[in-house]
Amino acid sequence: MAHVDEKIEGMYQEVLKRNPGETEFHQAVLEVLECLGPVVVKHPEYLERKIIERICEPERQIIFRVPWQDDKGIVHINRGFRVEFNSSLGPYKGGLRFHPSVYLGIIKFLGFEQIFKNSLTGLPIGGGKGGSDFDPKGKSDDEVMRFCQSFMTELYRHLGEHTDVPAGDIGVGGREIGYMFGQYKRITNRYEPGVLTGKGLTWGGSLVRTEATGYGATFFVNEMLKARKDSFDGKICTVSGSGNVAIYTIEKIHQLGGKCVACSDSNGVIYDEKGLDLNLIKQLKEVERRRIEEYVKTHKHAKYIAKGNIWEIPCQVAMPSATQNEISGKDAATLVKNGCIAVGEGANMPTTPEGIKVFLEAKIAYGPGKAANAGGVATSALEMQQNAGRDSWSFEYTEKKLEDIMINIHRNCYETAEEYGAPGNYVLGANICGFIKVANAMVAHGLI
Ligand code: NDP
Repeated sequence: MAHVDEKIEGMYQEVLKRNPGETEFHQAVLEVLECLGPVVVKHPEYLERKIIERICEPERQIIFRVPWQDDKGIVHINRGFRVEFNSSLGPYKGGLRFHPSVYLGIIKFLGFEQIFKNSLTGLPIGGGKGGSDFDPKGKSDDEVMRFCQSFMTELYRHLGEHTDVPAGDIGVGGREIGYMFGQYKRITNRYEPGVLTGKGLTWGGSLVRTEATGYGATFFVNEMLKARKDSFDGKICTVSGSGNVAIYTIEKIHQLGGKCVACSDSNGVIYDEKGLDLNLIKQLKEVERRRIEEYVKTHKHAKYIAKGNIWEIPCQVAMPSATQNEISGKDAATLVKNGCIAVGEGANMPTTPEGIKVFLEAKIAYGPGKAANAGGVATSALEMQQNAGRDSWSFEYTEKKLEDIMINIHRNCYETAEEYGAPGNYVLGANICGFIKVANAMVAHGLI
C-alpha cells in the first residue's frame, strides 16, 4: 500500500470530484485502489471495460424521508438511505445502521467495502448498505417500533429475496429486524423470510447469526496466529465496543483460551484484569440495555475509565469492534510498542490509513475488516439458504460452516498476498482477491 498506480490515479481523482465531502467513502475507495496497480497490469481488460470507474459508482442510491411520532406525540423527521452498490455476484446484501452520525458518505463507504467482503465469502451475494440518522439510544420500544415501521413503509418496495436483502449493523439488532419484518409482511401480504436476515429463531432466523461476526473475526485471527505457529492460548486481548460484535468476539476469545481484559462504549472503558465477566456484560447490554460503566457496581475490583482510550491498555491481540476510524496512527503505535502481535477488525474500517501503515510496517498480523468480519454476512447468506429450502440447521453444523468459510477467506487472502509479492499483507490479499471475482463477473455481464 504505497500509492495509487498512475493508471488508476485519475479514477481516484474523479471519485473525489463526483462525491464531495464524503470522506469515509474516499478513504474506503483509496484503500482498494492502492492495491490494484499490479492487477490491471495482469488484466488490461479491466481498464478497457472501465471496471474500476463502474465499481466506484453505486448502481442505485435511494434517499427518503422517515417521519415518526414519539411517545409524547411530537413529530420527528429522519433521513433513510439504501445504497445498492453492486449486484454482479448476487442480490444486494448488507446491513442497516441506525446512528446519529449516519449520512450518505458513511453508507457509501460501508456499501463499497461490502462488495469485496461479500465476494470474499465465496457466496452468491452482491453489496449494499443502508440506514438512518435516527438515534435509538434512550428511545422506548414503542418509539423504535414506530420508527422502524415508517422506515420500512418506504424501503419495502426496493427489497426482495432476489433483489436486496438487508440485515443489522450498529443500532439495528433482533428487535429492529422484527419490527421491520412485521411491517414488510403487513404491507406486502407476503410471509417472505428471505427478505431480511438476522431474524428471530422462531420466525426464520438462523442459529449462529447473532454470534457470527464476532465468532468469525476471532476464527480469522486464530488462522493468522496459526500461520505464525501461534495460538490464542493465554493471550491478553482487548475488544472495543460492547455491542453485538464485541460480545461474541469476547465469547470466542475465551473459548479459544485467550483472556479478554477490556471492552468499551462511546462513554468509557472497562478494565478487568481478571478477565471480563461476559455473563454480566450480556445481562447489561442484551437484556437490560444499560451502559457498560455499570459493570463496576458489582465487580469492584474492575476499573471504569470515563472517556478512556482502550488502545492504551497493553494487550497481545486487539480486536476493534465498535466503529470506523477508532484506531489512529498514534493508537496503532501504542499497541505495537506495548507488545500487540495481532489485530483483527470486527468493525468496518476501524483503523485509519496512518494506523494501517504502522501495523503493516511493524509486520504484525493485521486482518482488515472486509476479510475478518465477513462471518456476519456469510452467516446471513446461510440464513438465506435455510429460508429458501424451508430448513433450519443445528448450531454445531452452522458454526462449523462459518469456521470453514473463515478458514477459506484467510487462505485466499494469504495466498493472494503471496502471489502478488506481499506475503503477510492481508490488506492487499483481501482487496485483490475480493475485487477480481467481482470484476470478472462484471466483464461477463457486459456493459450494464
Ligand atoms: P452495536 O450497535 O451492537 O454496538 C456498537 C458498539 O460500538 C456499542 O458498544 C457502541 O457504544 C460502540 N460505538 C458505536 N459507535 C461508536 C462511536 N462513534 N464511538 C465509540 N463507540 C461507538 O453494533 P455492532 O456490534 O453490530 O457493530 C459494531 C461494528 O461492527 C460496526 O463497525 C459494524 O459496521 C461492524 N459490523 C457488524 C456486523 C454485524 O453483523 N452486526 C457485521 C460486520 C461488521 P454506544 O452504545 O455508546 O454507542
